Amino acid sequence: MKPPKKSELRRLAVSLRVPPGSTVRLPGDRDPGHASPGITEAQAVEALAETARLLADYQSRLAAQDEFGVAVVIQGLDASGKDGAIKNVMSGVNPAGVNVHSFKVPSAEELSHDYLWRYAQKLPRRGEIAIFNRSHYEEVLVVRVHPELLVKQHLPAAARGHDVWKRRFHEINEWERYLNDNGIKVVKIFLNLSKDEQRRRFLDRIDHPAKNWKFSAADVRERQSWDDYQAAFSEVLSNTSTAWAPWYVVPADHKWFARLAVAAIVIDELARIDPKFPTVSKETADALKAARDALVAEGPVTPPVADTKKHHGKGHGKHL
Ligand code: AMP
Ligand code: MG
Repeated sequence: MKPPKKSELRRLAVSLRVPPGSTVRLPGDRDPGHASPGITEAQAVEALAETARLLADYQSRLAAQDEFGVAVVIQGLDASGKDGAIKNVMSGVNPAGVNVHSFKVPSAEELSHDYLWRYAQKLPRRGEIAIFNRSHYEEVLVVRVHPELLVKQHLPAAARGHDVWKRRFHEINEWERYLNDNGIKVVKIFLNLSKDEQRRRFLDRIDHPAKNWKFSAADVRERQSWDDYQAAFSEVLSNTSTAWAPWYVVPADHKWFARLAVAAIVIDELARIDPKFPTVSKETADALKAARDALVAEGPVTPPVADTKKHHGKGHGKHL
């Protein structure tokens, strides 16, 4: 298979975007079992190698340009493949330029601040990609499904009234607009898993000792709130997909498709920024030339010590 073109990755990304102002009703509106017609699992796995190359290239330019930061928000129910998708995006990029932040049940310290505080602290700096494994959206998902969590936030009455979710959608949209206006892009991905596939993955985690660590009894308790989560996600997608920070709904039942889609979305965002290596100023170019002249004046340049790999021929070392 030919490597995927940027235009194909863009088409895939755009096909998964939630148009701002549209209404999404889960589970009916978006099929978790969807995969692009005409692409097989084997082809997707091959394409992933190419997406890793593209990501690495864009990331080094993003870092060199030092102007924009990118926050990639990954949301999804337990076993939807958040960790696997993140691992895949990370493969191939320079770890110095990417940070992953996993948000768990908030600590007492975090609860004593405003609800966006802990997420704001983990935002990417310019030139950096930050991946949020769960995010500020938990504040309108798990906290909405379990209202007792809202009580723990010690909010003044006006901030926890009947319109609290509407207010939070508005506040989150405005926060993301502010970030976007200041060079921090927010890309939001929802891994849309079916209830059947979640059951299959839970059973797999229980039946394989090596996967037991991934399973917690709390996951099965959360599964009982499946319908409430579908409703909460529907509200999030319908109210917080904006021109400046759109949501993407990634069908998650096929892991190979989900991983390709996540890579395509992140690449497309980077392609829109189109970061460039800074051009060298006249002064810098002159300084480089002077340094070069001085090095050359030291005498003849001897060849480097032989690189052993080159002498072992093919089949030595993995293709990376
Ligand atoms: P996991 O991602 O499986 O490690 O689990 C993290 C847990 O933390 C999940 O059950 C989330 O729902 C929970 N969590 C994350 N953010 C919040 C939050 N803001 N309030 C309450 N629970 C949260
Ligand atoms: Mg979990």
